[in-house]
Amino acid sequence: MVIKEVALETVCGITSKLPVNDKPEIAFAGKSNVGKSSLINALMNRKSLARISATPGKTQTINFYNINGEMYLVDLPGYGYAKVSEKEKEAWGKMIERYLHQSAMLKAVFLLIDIRHEPSKNDKMMYDWILHQGYEPVIIATKLDKIKKSQLSKQLKVLREGLNLVSGTKVIPFSAKTKQGREEIWEFAETRMFG
Ligand code: GDP
Repeated sequence: MVIKEVALETVCGITSKLPVNDKPEIAFAGKSNVGKSSLINALMNRKSLARISATPGKTQTINFYNINGEMYLVDLPGYGYAKVSEKEKEAWGKMIERYLHQSAMLKAVFLLIDIRHEPSKNDKMMYDWILHQGYEPVIIATKLDKIKKSQLSKQLKVLREGLNLVSGTKVIPFSAKTKQGREEIWEFAETRMFG
């Protein structure tokens, strides 16, 4: 993907109406601090358009980034932030569910998991939820630069088993630092969006 133009076009809060877009969308989910903003910035070749949080979990909105007037990257709110009330978590869960359920233009869902850690209960819930909405998410294993090469296959096994991934599920290791994995993510997304 050659990035010519990027704009944060729509920001949806908890009570906002979701936009009805006529261009393909790809969405990103993951718990707060997993590296979602860093990934989205790397995909857009921007340093800081998507906020990189010092305080994880602050960005409780669904953000739609228009790329080249051709498609949207959709940044879903990070889950699992301890300081958010149960009520708020539930409301956000419903909002994400509503988006996954409603969007007619959603072509791929990416779920981000930190490559260093075993998937959490929330990660599993999100994975099952995405499946339940009829999508088979691609897993992006983030912060690849933080592990040794020799640990990679073991960590990928922990991830596959921890999420109980449907066989054949694609897992793409990614580092925002080295940008390893960026091209593979774009390639997959473009194939899904434009055939
Ligand atoms: P978000 O809450 O999921 O949007 O996560 P952020 O993108 O804000 O990242 C959380 C923290 O992890 C920040 O301090 C980032 O600099 C750091 N981080 C994110 N991705 C990577 C990565 O690939 N490698 C390393 N070393 N740090 C990362």
